[in-house]
Amino acid sequence: MHVHKALTIAGSDSGGGAGIQADLKTFQELSVFGMSALTAITAQNTLGVSGIFPLSVEAVAAQIDAVASDLAPDAVKTGMLFDRGIIACVSEKACLYGWEKLVVDPVMIAKGGAPLLKAESIDAVKTLLLPVTYMLTPNIPEAEVLTGLSLTTIEARKEATRMLSSFGCRYVLLKGGHDDCNEYSTDLLFDGTSFTEYVGKRVHTQHTHGTGCTFSAAITAELAWGKTPWAAVDTAKQFIQAAIEQPLGIGAGHGPTNHWA
Ligand code: PLP
Repeated sequence: MHVHKALTIAGSDSGGGAGIQADLKTFQELSVFGMSALTAITAQNTLGVSGIFPLSVEAVAAQIDAVASDLAPDAVKTGMLFDRGIIACVSEKACLYGWEKLVVDPVMIAKGGAPLLKAESIDAVKTLLLPVTYMLTPNIPEAEVLTGLSLTTIEARKEATRMLSSFGCRYVLLKGGHDDCNEYSTDLLFDGTSFTEYVGKRVHTQHTHGTGCTFSAAITAELAWGKTPWAAVDTAKQFIQAAIEQPLGIGAGHGPTNHWA
């Protein structure tokens, strides 16, 4: 049996809906062996984040080295990276181990407003991480922060993906889920030349905690299987659409993604 393997470098969500937990559950559902390097521990539930405890750069580097030197992931994803030191470490390890399929979800702020990336580290994402990124998966607010553009029109979104790809990433998937005015959630995949649209019917729900992590983890799992970026996004979009349409309904706040859907 050939085992497909994926590594997630991200924060722990004690509530189990986002972060490392979402990534590993998604890998499992998509028949990929999941491995992890924790960057931070968060204390959180569906009502919000009550504590953030970052790990040292040494701790992150040691986890990545242990995994990469023995278990050779077929694809890698990043979630919450928290600060410049951890971003620099991931960038260095990506070069050292020659990761081709590195999916970067530029996680910045949790839905409740807690910062998962220090504001002064945003530049490091652009200069250190994007040059080694295979696919960048920002939502609209994240892409606005990274580009400084206001992304209210489709033309502006296309411009933003072009700008982001000029930082060095091979593919940019700009997710449309935050465009609440639209009955459809349309994601744009840019390959440096042309655009592919992925359209899903909007679901009006507050139970979307961890959807970004889950979507990018599903893409990573599909890439670990050797799928093309277009096929990987297509399968991941179906996975996340089903998850949002069938919420688990647990917790009093923003309920977690249903990884079984
Ligand atoms: N907590 C952690 C550790 C995460 O990695 C993420 C990912 O984006 C979140 C929280 C965000 O959760 P939410 O979907 O509620 O914004």
